[in-house]
Amino acid sequence: MDAAVPFFDLGGMTQEVRSDVDAAWSTLLGTGHFVGGAEVDRFEEEWARYCGTAHAIGVANGTDALTLTLRALAIGAGDEVVVPANTFIATAEAVVLAGATPRFADVDPDTLLLTADGLAAAITSRTSAVIAVHLYGQTADMDAISVTAERAGLAVLEDAAQAHGASWWGRPAGSLGRAGCFSFYPGKNLGAFGDAGAVVTDDADLTERLRSLRNHGRVSGSHYRHGDIGTNSRLDSVQAAVLSAKLPRLDAWVEARRAIVGQYREALGDGPMRLVATAPGAEHACHLAVVEVPDRDAVRAGLGRLGIETAVHYPVPCHRHGPYRRFATGPLPVAEGAAERVLSLPLFPHMSAEQITRVCEAVQQLVHRFVVSDGV
Ligand SMILES: *Cc1c(COP(=O)(O)O)cnc(C)c1O
Repeated sequence: MDAAVPFFDLGGMTQEVRSDVDAAWSTLLGTGHFVGGAEVDRFEEEWARYCGTAHAIGVANGTDALTLTLRALAIGAGDEVVVPANTFIATAEAVVLAGATPRFADVDPDTLLLTADGLAAAITSRTSAVIAVHLYGQTADMDAISVTAERAGLAVLEDAAQAHGASWWGRPAGSLGRAGCFSFYPGKNLGAFGDAGAVVTDDADLTERLRSLRNHGRVSGSHYRHGDIGTNSRLDSVQAAVLSAKLPRLDAWVEARRAIVGQYREALGDGPMRLVATAPGAEHACHLAVVEVPDRDAVRAGLGRLGIETAVHYPVPCHRHGPYRRFATGPLPVAEGAAERVLSLPLFPHMSAEQITRVCEAVQQLVHRFVVSDGV
């Protein structure tokens, strides 16, 4: 059999930027500036422009982007923060790391994203903020969520770690709330050659507090005065150079992802395996190609036998993980049901036509078996 179709392969993207990164790193090695500095300033400007915000603050990773934003907004002990139950654990983890209490909300049965109703059901008198997660690359309904949040006096943050290049009615992910938090982990739509992250915002005060918190609470312009208990969450210039080299290609890479998902949609038809729906107004960044399918584990094994690698995002909803159970307030049936059915198909911008065809054919073969024999 041919080599397996990998779930994800960074190689094509790395190859495209390799000579640009070599040149940028060669210059950097000469300057000896490896943390912060001009490369970081430059990427922050580029990223803010891309997201349509006034400011971007580079940090060490996406989890820190969320944690430091909560801390910068003085959200901590005694505060509750609503997060969707269907997300990567880091969304809830950041709330706990900031000293606040996560409250889990159920998600929309079609998009599997946070909804205004799910948010409303999770709000108490102690709720201070909500983190809307643009999971899989699709923005949540930020209009409805913002209305509900505003009524309850909540800060709205975006976890846009999977949504580089997504938009909501034409407005970029990250620009839709008080602050947008990004991860540039290598596997994200825009990925560094290591860990990196950023916060984008229009809020100048928040920007200043984040710049201080990420750098040991230093007072702006001073090396030896510490006005806050901060941390070390700086962005490396070596990573900023990679991100600047990749950014001009991001839109084309997102387009390539969308085209592949379009082919999957066609291959799946209206069979029992269906892609998670895209809502009107959401321009999907296609970070992940997630389908829902009955007998997910059997289907996954079947695809594996046909040489198709898949993944599951996520097999356990946040409130069902041991350390987070104490924050659960009751069952969240949509998120719990989805966790049993979701399956992520291979997706990366440089998938070959042959790889895409193999996934489509394997999927059709399995779906056919479903229809004919009602099982796999
Ligand atoms: C990747 C991710 C994060 C965390 O980012 P790190 O850079 O790994 O800390 C947070 N939220 C979501 C939804 C993610 O996918």
